[in-house]
Amino acid sequence: MSQKLKVLVFGNTKENLRASLIKAGSIHAGKHGPFNAVLILGGKPDDLGVPYEVPLDMTVYVVSESEDYEALNAVEGITVLKNGDIIKTLDGLKIGFVGNDNLNNNQETEENLVDILLSHSWPRGITTHSSVSLPSSSVELLSNGSADDASRHWHPRYHFATGGFWEREPFVSQDAKDADKTETSSAKSLQRLTRFISLGDYKGDSRWHYAFQLDVPLSDDEAVNPSIITANPYSTYDDTNSIHKQQNSQKRQREDQIKDTDFLDQNKRVQKPFVPINPGTCFLCLSNPALAKHLIVSIGEDVYIALAKGPLTISPAWHVLVVPIAHVPTFKALNRSESGLENPNASAEVLLEMAKYTTALRAMYMETINHDIAVFEIVKPNGIHIHSQVIPIPGDKIDLLKEEFLKRGARMKIQEKSIQRDGEENYFRISLGSAVELYIDLNILTGGQRGGRGSQRGGRGGYNNDRRNNGGYFDMQFPRKVIASVLGVEDRIDWRKCEQSIQEETDYSENFKKAFKKFDFTVA
Ligand SMILES: [Zn+2]
Repeated sequence: MSQKLKVLVFGNTKENLRASLIKAGSIHAGKHGPFNAVLILGGKPDDLGVPYEVPLDMTVYVVSESEDYEALNAVEGITVLKNGDIIKTLDGLKIGFVGNDNLNNNQETEENLVDILLSHSWPRGITTHSSVSLPSSSVELLSNGSADDASRHWHPRYHFATGGFWEREPFVSQDAKDADKTETSSAKSLQRLTRFISLGDYKGDSRWHYAFQLDVPLSDDEAVNPSIITANPYSTYDDTNSIHKQQNSQKRQREDQIKDTDFLDQNKRVQKPFVPINPGTCFLCLSNPALAKHLIVSIGEDVYIALAKGPLTISPAWHVLVVPIAHVPTFKALNRSESGLENPNASAEVLLEMAKYTTALRAMYMETINHDIAVFEIVKPNGIHIHSQVIPIPGDKIDLLKEEFLKRGARMKIQEKSIQRDGEENYFRISLGSAVELYIDLNILTGGQRGGRGSQRGGRGGYNNDRRNNGGYFDMQFPRKVIASVLGVEDRIDWRKCEQSIQEETDYSENFKKAFKKFDFTVA
Protein backbone atom coordinates (compact mmCIF):
# COMPACT_ATOMS: atom_id res chain seq x y z
CA MET A 1 0.00 0.00 0.00
CA SER A 2 1.20 3.45 -0.86
CA GLN A 3 0.84 6.37 1.45
CA LYS A 4 0.59 10.00 0.49
CA LEU A 5 3.54 12.07 1.67
CA LYS A 6 3.77 15.83 1.70
CA VAL A 7 7.05 17.48 0.82
CA LEU A 8 8.18 21.10 1.00
CA VAL A 9 11.24 22.21 -0.99
CA PHE A 10 13.19 25.46 -0.66
CA GLY A 11 15.80 26.76 -3.13
CA ASN A 12 19.31 27.68 -2.04
CA THR A 13 19.04 29.60 1.24
CA LYS A 14 22.66 30.82 1.17
CA GLU A 15 23.28 33.08 4.22
CA ASN A 16 19.65 32.70 5.33
CA LEU A 17 19.69 29.10 6.46
CA ARG A 18 18.61 29.94 10.01
CA ALA A 19 15.76 32.19 8.84
CA SER A 20 14.66 29.59 6.30
CA LEU A 21 14.37 26.93 9.02
CA ILE A 22 12.09 29.24 11.00
CA LYS A 23 10.05 29.94 7.86
CA ALA A 24 9.79 26.22 7.11
CA GLY A 25 8.67 25.62 10.70
CA SER A 26 5.84 28.12 10.39
CA ILE A 27 4.66 26.69 7.05
CA HIS A 28 4.88 23.20 8.53
CA ALA A 29 2.61 24.32 11.38
CA GLY A 30 0.26 26.20 9.02
CA LYS A 31 -2.65 25.09 6.91
CA HIS A 32 -0.53 23.45 4.18
CA GLY A 33 1.43 21.33 6.64
CA PRO A 34 2.54 19.19 8.27
CA PHE A 35 5.18 17.92 5.86
CA ASN A 36 6.82 14.51 5.92
CA ALA A 37 10.03 16.08 4.68
CA VAL A 38 11.44 19.58 4.19
CA LEU A 39 14.22 19.75 1.60
CA ILE A 40 16.65 22.64 1.33
CA LEU A 41 18.83 23.04 -1.75
CA GLY A 42 21.83 24.46 0.08
CA GLY A 43 22.62 27.13 2.63
CA LYS A 44 25.51 28.43 4.67
CA PRO A 45 25.48 27.81 8.44
CA ASP A 46 26.19 30.94 10.49
CA ASP A 47 28.55 31.08 13.46
CA LEU A 48 26.25 32.79 15.95
CA GLY A 49 26.86 29.98 18.40
CA VAL A 50 23.10 29.75 18.97
CA PRO A 51 21.60 26.29 18.38
CA TYR A 52 19.38 25.85 15.33
CA GLU A 53 15.83 25.03 16.21
CA VAL A 54 13.75 22.58 14.26
CA PRO A 55 10.20 21.73 15.40
CA LEU A 56 10.08 18.27 16.98
CA ASP A 57 7.81 16.80 14.32
CA MET A 58 9.66 18.29 11.33
CA THR A 59 12.49 16.60 9.45
CA VAL A 60 14.81 18.69 7.31
CA TYR A 61 17.26 17.52 4.66
CA VAL A 62 19.91 20.01 3.58
CA VAL A 63 22.31 19.37 0.73
CA SER A 64 25.95 20.28 1.11
CA GLU A 65 29.28 19.94 -0.57
CA SER A 66 31.49 21.48 2.07
CA GLU A 67 32.90 20.33 5.39
CA ASP A 68 31.43 22.99 7.67
CA TYR A 69 28.17 21.10 7.71
CA GLU A 70 29.26 18.58 10.31
CA ALA A 71 27.91 20.80 13.08
CA LEU A 72 24.64 21.18 11.22
CA ASN A 73 24.35 17.44 10.85
CA ALA A 74 24.45 17.15 14.63
CA VAL A 75 21.28 19.25 15.00
CA GLU A 76 18.26 17.20 15.97
CA GLY A 77 15.89 17.05 13.00
CA ILE A 78 18.46 17.94 10.33
CA THR A 79 20.16 15.51 7.99
CA VAL A 80 22.88 16.69 5.63
CA LEU A 81 23.11 15.02 2.22
CA LYS A 82 26.48 14.82 0.48
CA ASN A 83 27.39 14.22 -3.13
CA GLY A 84 26.14 10.83 -4.27
CA ASP A 85 24.08 10.12 -1.14
CA ILE A 86 20.82 8.25 -1.46
CA ILE A 87 18.83 7.99 1.75
CA LYS A 88 15.51 6.47 2.69
CA THR A 89 13.38 8.28 5.26
CA LEU A 90 11.32 6.52 7.92
CA ASP A 91 8.28 7.06 5.68
CA GLY A 92 10.04 5.21 2.85
CA LEU A 93 10.77 8.31 0.76
CA LYS A 94 14.02 7.97 -1.19
CA ILE A 95 16.01 11.14 -1.67
CA GLY A 96 19.27 11.48 -3.58
CA PHE A 97 21.69 14.35 -3.94
CA VAL A 98 24.28 15.01 -6.58
CA GLY A 99 26.72 17.89 -6.28
CA ASN A 100 29.17 19.15 -8.82
CA ASP A 101 31.79 16.48 -8.09
CA ASN A 102 31.94 13.41 -10.24
CA LEU A 103 29.34 10.84 -9.46
CA ASN A 104 30.63 7.30 -9.00
CA ASN A 105 27.28 5.79 -8.25
CA ASN A 106 25.55 5.87 -11.61
CA GLN A 107 24.31 2.31 -11.79
CA GLU A 108 20.77 1.70 -12.88
CA THR A 109 19.64 -0.55 -10.04
CA GLU A 110 16.61 -0.78 -7.83
CA GLU A 111 18.61 0.62 -4.90
CA ASN A 112 19.41 3.67 -6.96
CA LEU A 113 15.84 4.50 -7.94
CA VAL A 114 14.88 7.66 -6.06
CA ASP A 115 11.64 9.50 -5.48
CA ILE A 116 13.34 12.87 -5.29
CA LEU A 117 16.67 13.96 -6.71
CA LEU A 118 18.30 17.19 -5.57
CA SER A 119 21.13 18.82 -7.49
CA HIS A 120 22.76 22.21 -7.57
CA SER A 121 23.10 22.20 -11.34
CA TRP A 122 20.73 21.54 -14.16
CA PRO A 123 21.39 18.33 -16.05
CA ARG A 124 22.73 18.80 -19.55
CA GLY A 125 19.97 18.64 -22.13
CA ILE A 126 17.10 18.98 -19.64
CA THR A 127 15.53 21.69 -21.81
CA THR A 128 15.28 19.38 -24.84
CA HIS A 129 11.68 18.80 -26.00
CA SER A 130 10.38 21.45 -23.60
CA SER A 131 8.38 24.41 -24.82
CA VAL A 132 8.53 26.29 -21.53
CA SER A 133 10.57 29.48 -21.81
CA LEU A 134 13.72 29.62 -19.70
CA PRO A 135 14.21 31.95 -16.71
CA SER A 136 17.36 33.29 -18.35
CA SER A 137 19.45 32.37 -21.33
CA SER A 138 22.46 31.51 -19.21
CA VAL A 139 21.00 28.68 -17.12
CA GLU A 140 21.91 26.01 -19.61
CA LEU A 141 25.55 26.97 -19.25
CA LEU A 142 25.34 25.89 -15.62
CA SER A 143 24.47 22.36 -16.62
CA ASN A 144 26.56 19.59 -15.28
CA GLY A 145 27.35 16.01 -16.23
CA SER A 146 26.85 14.54 -12.75
CA ALA A 147 23.32 15.90 -12.50
CA ASP A 148 22.71 14.46 -15.93
CA ASP A 149 24.02 11.02 -14.89
CA ALA A 150 21.94 10.89 -11.74
CA SER A 151 18.79 12.04 -13.47
CA ARG A 152 19.25 9.43 -16.21
CA HIS A 153 20.07 6.47 -14.00
CA TRP A 154 18.27 7.14 -10.73
CA HIS A 155 14.98 7.89 -12.51
CA PRO A 156 13.74 10.46 -9.98
CA ARG A 157 10.03 11.22 -9.91
CA TYR A 158 10.88 14.78 -8.91
CA HIS A 159 14.16 16.48 -9.66
CA PHE A 160 14.84 19.83 -7.99
CA ALA A 161 17.77 22.05 -8.92
CA THR A 162 18.80 25.67 -8.40
CA GLY A 163 19.09 28.43 -11.00
CA GLY A 164 15.81 30.39 -11.00
CA PHE A 165 12.29 29.09 -11.28
CA TRP A 166 11.58 26.81 -14.21
CA GLU A 167 9.27 23.83 -14.38
CA ARG A 168 9.35 21.78 -17.52
CA GLU A 169 6.74 19.35 -18.81
CA PRO A 170 7.02 15.93 -17.14
CA PHE A 171 8.75 13.33 -19.26
CA VAL A 172 8.83 9.55 -19.35
CA SER A 173 12.01 8.59 -17.57
CA GLN A 174 11.48 4.86 -17.69
CA ASP A 175 8.91 2.76 -19.52
CA ALA A 176 7.12 0.02 -17.63
CA LYS A 177 8.92 -2.61 -19.72
CA ASP A 178 12.31 -1.12 -18.85
CA ALA A 179 11.26 -0.76 -15.25
CA ASP A 180 11.05 -4.58 -15.15
CA LYS A 181 14.82 -4.69 -15.40
CA THR A 182 15.44 -2.53 -12.36
CA GLU A 183 12.48 -3.11 -10.08
CA THR A 184 13.02 -6.78 -9.48
CA SER A 185 10.97 -7.06 -6.33
CA SER A 186 7.92 -5.12 -7.46
CA ALA A 187 4.86 -7.17 -8.17
CA LYS A 188 4.14 -4.98 -11.16
CA SER A 189 6.48 -2.52 -12.82
CA LEU A 190 5.20 0.95 -13.43
CA GLN A 191 6.19 3.65 -15.85
CA ARG A 192 8.20 6.37 -14.15
CA LEU A 193 7.81 10.04 -15.00
CA THR A 194 10.28 12.74 -14.05
CA ARG A 195 9.16 16.23 -13.15
CA PHE A 196 12.05 18.68 -13.26
CA ILE A 197 11.69 21.88 -11.24
CA SER A 198 14.34 24.53 -10.78
CA LEU A 199 13.94 26.96 -7.88
CA GLY A 200 15.28 30.45 -7.24
CA ASP A 201 17.24 31.46 -4.16
CA TYR A 202 15.38 31.77 -0.84
CA LYS A 203 13.35 35.01 -0.72
CA GLY A 204 14.67 36.08 -4.12
CA ASP A 205 12.70 37.41 -7.08
CA SER A 206 12.18 34.02 -8.66
CA ARG A 207 9.91 31.44 -7.06
CA TRP A 208 11.96 29.59 -4.44
CA HIS A 209 9.52 27.19 -2.81
CA TYR A 210 7.53 24.19 -3.91
CA ALA A 211 5.08 22.04 -1.99
CA PHE A 212 3.63 18.83 -3.33
CA GLN A 213 2.28 15.45 -2.44
CA LEU A 214 3.33 12.08 -3.79
CA ASP A 215 2.48 8.42 -3.29
CA VAL A 216 5.27 6.37 -1.74
CA PRO A 217 5.98 3.90 -3.10
CA LEU A 218 4.90 4.88 -6.61
CA SER A 219 1.31 3.73 -7.11
CA ASP A 220 -0.77 2.74 -10.09
CA ASP A 221 -2.77 5.84 -9.56
CA GLU A 222 0.19 8.12 -9.90
CA ALA A 223 1.87 6.25 -12.73
CA VAL A 224 -0.94 7.53 -14.96
CA ASN A 225 0.34 10.22 -17.27
CA PRO A 226 -0.51 13.83 -16.66
CA SER A 227 -2.17 15.58 -19.57
CA ILE A 228 1.08 16.66 -21.12
CA ILE A 229 4.36 14.82 -21.23
CA THR A 230 7.29 14.94 -23.59
CA ALA A 231 9.79 12.43 -24.85
CA ASN A 232 12.78 11.79 -22.63
CA PRO A 233 15.16 14.75 -23.10
CA TYR A 234 18.13 12.45 -22.56
CA SER A 235 17.26 10.33 -25.56
CA THR A 236 19.09 11.82 -28.48
CA TYR A 237 16.81 10.16 -30.97
CA ASP A 238 13.09 10.69 -31.42
CA ASP A 239 11.32 7.69 -30.04
CA THR A 240 8.25 7.48 -32.26
CA ASN A 241 6.77 4.81 -30.04
CA SER A 242 6.77 7.07 -27.03
CA ILE A 243 5.40 9.99 -29.02
CA HIS A 244 2.56 7.79 -30.17
CA LYS A 245 1.91 6.81 -26.58
CA GLN A 246 2.09 10.41 -25.55
CA GLN A 247 -0.65 11.33 -28.01
CA ASN A 248 -2.86 8.50 -26.85
CA SER A 249 -2.31 9.42 -23.29
CA GLN A 250 -3.11 13.06 -23.93
CA LYS A 251 -6.36 12.05 -25.52
CA ARG A 252 -7.24 9.74 -22.67
CA GLN A 253 -6.37 12.39 -20.17
CA ARG A 254 -8.60 14.98 -21.76
CA GLU A 255 -11.43 12.57 -21.28
CA ASP A 256 -10.47 11.41 -17.82
CA GLN A 257 -9.46 14.77 -16.38
CA ILE A 258 -6.02 15.48 -15.08
CA LYS A 259 -4.41 13.34 -12.46
CA ASP A 260 -1.52 15.16 -11.00
CA THR A 261 0.06 15.22 -7.63
CA ASP A 262 -0.36 18.82 -6.62
CA PHE A 263 -2.30 18.49 -3.42
CA LEU A 264 -3.45 22.08 -3.37
CA ASP A 265 -4.92 21.54 -6.78
CA GLN A 266 -6.69 18.43 -5.55
CA ASN A 267 -8.31 20.51 -2.86
CA LYS A 268 -9.51 22.93 -5.50
CA ARG A 269 -10.94 20.16 -7.62
CA VAL A 270 -13.48 19.44 -4.94
CA GLN A 271 -14.98 22.84 -5.65
CA LYS A 272 -14.64 22.59 -9.42
CA PRO A 273 -16.81 19.81 -10.78
CA PHE A 274 -15.76 20.41 -14.38
CA VAL A 275 -12.28 21.36 -15.55
CA PRO A 276 -12.44 21.37 -19.33
CA ILE A 277 -9.16 23.10 -20.14
CA ASN A 278 -5.79 22.63 -18.52
CA PRO A 279 -2.41 24.20 -19.35
CA GLY A 280 -1.66 21.40 -21.80
CA THR A 281 -4.61 22.26 -23.99
CA CYS A 282 -5.12 25.95 -23.21
CA PHE A 283 -4.48 28.17 -26.21
CA LEU A 284 -2.91 30.86 -24.09
CA CYS A 285 -0.53 28.61 -22.17
CA LEU A 286 3.08 28.60 -23.31
CA SER A 287 3.28 24.94 -22.30
CA ASN A 288 0.66 23.95 -24.88
CA PRO A 289 2.54 22.55 -27.90
CA ALA A 290 -0.38 23.61 -30.12
CA LEU A 291 0.00 27.25 -29.08
CA ALA A 292 0.28 29.60 -32.07
CA LYS A 293 3.89 30.48 -31.25
CA HIS A 294 4.38 32.57 -34.36
CA LEU A 295 1.91 35.10 -32.94
CA ILE A 296 3.92 35.63 -29.74
CA VAL A 297 5.84 38.85 -30.14
CA SER A 298 7.48 39.46 -26.76
CA ILE A 299 7.96 37.45 -23.56
CA GLY A 300 8.63 39.12 -20.22
CA GLU A 301 9.09 37.76 -16.72
CA ASP A 302 5.47 36.85 -15.87
CA VAL A 303 3.65 38.16 -18.93
CA TYR A 304 3.85 37.78 -22.69
CA ILE A 305 2.16 39.55 -25.57
CA ALA A 306 0.81 38.02 -28.76
CA LEU A 307 -1.06 39.26 -31.77
CA ALA A 308 -4.75 38.38 -31.72
CA LYS A 309 -6.00 35.63 -33.99
CA GLY A 310 -8.67 37.06 -36.27
CA PRO A 311 -7.79 40.63 -35.21
CA LEU A 312 -10.39 43.39 -35.08
CA THR A 313 -7.88 45.96 -36.34
CA ILE A 314 -4.92 45.27 -38.58
CA SER A 315 -1.34 46.35 -39.24
CA PRO A 316 -0.04 48.89 -38.32
CA ALA A 317 -2.90 49.11 -35.78
CA TRP A 318 -2.19 45.62 -34.45
CA HIS A 319 -4.73 44.08 -32.07
CA VAL A 320 -2.66 42.63 -29.22
CA LEU A 321 -3.28 40.25 -26.31
CA VAL A 322 -1.42 40.85 -23.05
CA VAL A 323 -1.30 37.52 -21.23
CA PRO A 324 0.00 36.45 -17.81
CA ILE A 325 2.07 33.28 -18.22
CA ALA A 326 0.27 31.57 -15.31
CA HIS A 327 -2.84 29.59 -16.22
CA VAL A 328 -5.45 31.25 -14.00
CA PRO A 329 -8.98 32.54 -14.67
CA THR A 330 -8.68 35.80 -12.71
CA PHE A 331 -5.98 38.17 -11.45
CA LYS A 332 -7.02 37.43 -7.90
CA ALA A 333 -6.40 33.73 -8.51
CA LEU A 334 -2.74 34.49 -9.26
CA ASN A 335 -2.23 34.84 -5.54
CA ARG A 336 -3.32 31.31 -4.88
CA SER A 337 -2.31 29.62 -8.12
CA GLU A 338 1.06 28.29 -7.14
CA SER A 339 1.12 24.72 -6.03
CA GLY A 340 3.05 25.71 -2.96
CA LEU A 341 2.32 28.75 -0.92
CA GLU A 342 0.11 31.75 -1.17
CA ASN A 343 1.90 34.75 -2.59
CA PRO A 344 -0.09 37.95 -2.15
CA ASN A 345 2.39 39.84 -4.32
CA ALA A 346 2.00 37.69 -7.39
CA SER A 347 -0.96 39.56 -8.88
CA ALA A 348 0.68 42.92 -8.20
CA GLU A 349 3.82 41.82 -10.04
CA VAL A 350 1.85 40.50 -12.99
CA LEU A 351 -0.36 43.61 -13.22
CA LEU A 352 2.73 45.80 -13.09
CA GLU A 353 4.32 43.97 -15.98
CA MET A 354 1.06 44.06 -17.94
CA ALA A 355 0.98 47.81 -17.39
CA LYS A 356 4.55 48.07 -18.69
CA TYR A 357 3.46 46.30 -21.86
CA THR A 358 0.36 48.44 -22.41
CA THR A 359 2.40 51.57 -21.77
CA ALA A 360 4.96 50.47 -24.34
CA LEU A 361 2.23 49.60 -26.86
CA ARG A 362 0.55 52.96 -26.34
CA ALA A 363 3.86 54.74 -26.89
CA MET A 364 4.35 52.84 -30.13
CA TYR A 365 0.87 53.57 -31.49
CA MET A 366 1.10 57.22 -30.45
CA GLU A 367 4.38 57.63 -32.27
CA THR A 368 3.70 55.56 -35.37
CA ILE A 369 0.01 56.18 -36.14
CA ASN A 370 -1.09 58.78 -33.61
CA HIS A 371 -3.52 56.34 -31.97
CA ASP A 372 -4.42 55.93 -28.32
CA ILE A 373 -5.46 52.53 -26.96
CA ALA A 374 -8.45 50.72 -25.49
CA VAL A 375 -7.53 47.95 -23.04
CA PHE A 376 -10.20 45.56 -21.86
CA GLU A 377 -10.66 42.33 -20.00
CA ILE A 378 -13.50 40.06 -19.04
CA VAL A 379 -12.73 38.48 -15.69
CA LYS A 380 -14.79 35.52 -14.57
CA PRO A 381 -14.17 32.91 -11.91
CA ASN A 382 -15.09 30.21 -14.42
CA GLY A 383 -12.98 31.77 -17.16
CA ILE A 384 -10.01 29.95 -18.61
CA HIS A 385 -6.85 32.03 -18.85
CA ILE A 386 -6.93 35.69 -17.92
CA HIS A 387 -5.72 38.19 -20.52
CA SER A 388 -6.25 41.78 -21.64
CA GLN A 389 -6.88 42.90 -25.18
CA VAL A 390 -5.32 46.06 -26.55
CA ILE A 391 -6.89 47.77 -29.56
CA PRO A 392 -5.47 51.01 -31.00
CA ILE A 393 -8.08 53.78 -31.30
CA PRO A 394 -7.63 57.06 -33.20
CA GLY A 395 -7.23 59.77 -30.55
CA ASP A 396 -10.30 61.71 -31.72
CA LYS A 397 -12.56 58.67 -31.33
CA ILE A 398 -11.96 58.06 -27.62
CA ASP A 399 -14.85 60.30 -26.49
CA LEU A 400 -17.21 58.77 -29.00
CA LEU A 401 -16.21 55.30 -27.87
CA LYS A 402 -16.86 56.18 -24.25
CA GLU A 403 -20.34 57.49 -25.13
CA GLU A 404 -21.12 54.37 -27.11
CA PHE A 405 -20.05 52.07 -24.26
CA LEU A 406 -22.12 54.06 -21.75
CA LYS A 407 -25.14 53.94 -24.03
CA ARG A 408 -24.98 50.29 -25.01
CA GLY A 409 -23.86 49.15 -21.56
CA ALA A 410 -26.59 51.04 -19.67
CA ARG A 411 -28.77 47.95 -19.45
CA MET A 412 -25.87 46.19 -17.71
CA LYS A 413 -25.31 49.16 -15.40
CA ILE A 414 -21.95 50.09 -16.89
CA GLN A 415 -20.31 52.84 -14.87
CA GLU A 416 -17.25 55.03 -14.89
CA LYS A 417 -15.24 53.51 -12.11
CA SER A 418 -11.69 52.53 -11.37
CA ILE A 419 -11.28 49.20 -9.61
CA GLN A 420 -8.62 47.02 -8.08
CA ARG A 421 -8.31 44.40 -10.79
CA ASP A 422 -7.07 41.66 -8.47
CA GLY A 423 -9.68 42.44 -5.84
CA GLU A 424 -12.74 41.22 -7.74
CA GLU A 425 -13.35 38.17 -9.85
CA ASN A 426 -16.42 38.78 -11.94
CA TYR A 427 -16.31 41.92 -14.01
CA PHE A 428 -15.78 43.60 -17.34
CA ARG A 429 -13.37 46.51 -17.44
CA ILE A 430 -12.14 48.74 -20.22
CA SER A 431 -9.78 51.69 -20.16
CA LEU A 432 -9.96 54.22 -22.99
CA GLY A 433 -6.82 56.29 -23.33
CA SER A 434 -5.23 57.25 -20.05
CA ALA A 435 -8.21 58.89 -18.36
CA VAL A 436 -11.35 56.79 -18.80
CA GLU A 437 -12.15 53.55 -17.00
CA LEU A 438 -15.48 51.80 -17.41
CA TYR A 439 -16.71 48.87 -15.38
CA ILE A 440 -19.55 46.36 -15.32
CA ASP A 441 -20.18 44.21 -12.28
CA LEU A 442 -20.99 40.81 -13.80
CA ASN A 443 -22.38 39.57 -10.49
CA ILE A 444 -25.58 41.42 -11.24
CA LEU A 445 -26.01 39.67 -14.57
CA THR A 446 -27.28 36.18 -14.96
CA GLY A 447 -29.09 33.96 -17.41
CA GLY A 448 -27.03 31.20 -18.93
CA GLN A 449 -24.17 33.18 -20.47
CA ARG A 450 -25.04 31.98 -23.93
CA GLY A 451 -22.26 31.32 -26.39
CA GLY A 452 -18.52 31.76 -26.33
CA ARG A 453 -16.28 30.84 -23.50
CA GLY A 454 -18.84 31.79 -20.90
CA SER A 455 -20.86 28.67 -21.55
CA GLN A 456 -18.79 26.40 -19.34
CA ARG A 457 -20.14 25.20 -16.08
CA GLY A 458 -18.18 25.52 -12.90
CA GLY A 459 -17.10 28.40 -10.77
CA ARG A 460 -15.72 28.70 -7.32
CA GLY A 461 -17.71 28.25 -4.17
CA GLY A 462 -20.08 31.04 -3.36
CA TYR A 463 -20.13 32.47 -6.85
CA ASN A 464 -23.58 31.27 -7.77
CA ASN A 465 -25.01 32.26 -4.44
CA ASP A 466 -23.70 35.78 -4.84
CA ARG A 467 -25.55 36.40 -8.03
CA ARG A 468 -28.57 38.57 -7.91
CA ASN A 469 -31.04 37.92 -10.64
CA ASN A 470 -31.23 41.11 -12.58
CA GLY A 471 -32.07 39.70 -15.99
CA GLY A 472 -29.86 39.55 -19.05
CA TYR A 473 -26.47 37.96 -19.63
CA PHE A 474 -23.05 39.22 -20.59
CA ASP A 475 -22.23 38.92 -24.26
CA MET A 476 -18.53 38.06 -24.53
CA GLN A 477 -18.44 39.89 -27.86
CA PHE A 478 -19.85 43.09 -26.34
CA PRO A 479 -16.56 45.06 -26.26
CA ARG A 480 -15.57 43.95 -29.74
CA LYS A 481 -19.00 44.89 -31.12
CA VAL A 482 -18.96 48.38 -29.61
CA ILE A 483 -15.42 49.13 -30.76
CA ALA A 484 -16.16 47.75 -34.25
CA SER A 485 -19.16 50.04 -34.60
CA VAL A 486 -17.20 53.13 -33.61
CA LEU A 487 -14.29 52.24 -35.90
CA GLY A 488 -16.68 51.35 -38.74
CA VAL A 489 -15.41 47.78 -39.06
CA GLU A 490 -18.60 45.89 -38.23
CA ASP A 491 -17.63 43.26 -40.81
CA ARG A 492 -14.80 42.23 -38.47
CA ILE A 493 -16.90 41.55 -35.36
CA ASP A 494 -16.67 37.79 -35.77
CA TRP A 495 -12.99 36.92 -35.35
CA ARG A 496 -13.36 33.71 -37.36
CA LYS A 497 -14.13 35.80 -40.42
CA CYS A 498 -10.89 37.73 -39.90
CA GLU A 499 -8.60 34.74 -39.59
CA GLN A 500 -5.38 34.95 -41.57
CA SER A 501 -3.22 32.21 -43.03
CA ILE A 502 -0.21 31.06 -41.01
CA GLN A 503 2.05 32.82 -43.53
CA GLU A 504 0.10 36.07 -43.22
CA GLU A 505 0.20 35.80 -39.44
CA THR A 506 3.94 35.16 -39.48
CA ASP A 507 4.68 38.17 -41.71
CA TYR A 508 2.33 40.22 -39.64
CA SER A 509 4.12 39.41 -36.39
CA GLU A 510 7.56 39.99 -37.96
CA ASN A 511 6.40 43.47 -38.94
CA PHE A 512 5.04 44.06 -35.47
CA LYS A 513 8.32 43.01 -33.85
CA LYS A 514 10.27 45.45 -36.02
CA ALA A 515 7.96 48.30 -35.06
CA PHE A 516 7.81 47.36 -31.37
CA LYS A 517 11.51 46.69 -30.88
CA LYS A 518 12.43 50.15 -29.69
CA PHE A 519 9.52 50.19 -27.21
CA ASP A 520 9.98 46.66 -25.90
CA PHE A 521 11.40 46.81 -22.36
CA THR A 522 12.37 43.13 -22.50
CA VAL A 523 14.88 43.86 -25.26
CA ALA A 524 18.14 44.98 -23.70
ZN1 LIG B 1 -3.70 28.66 -19.93
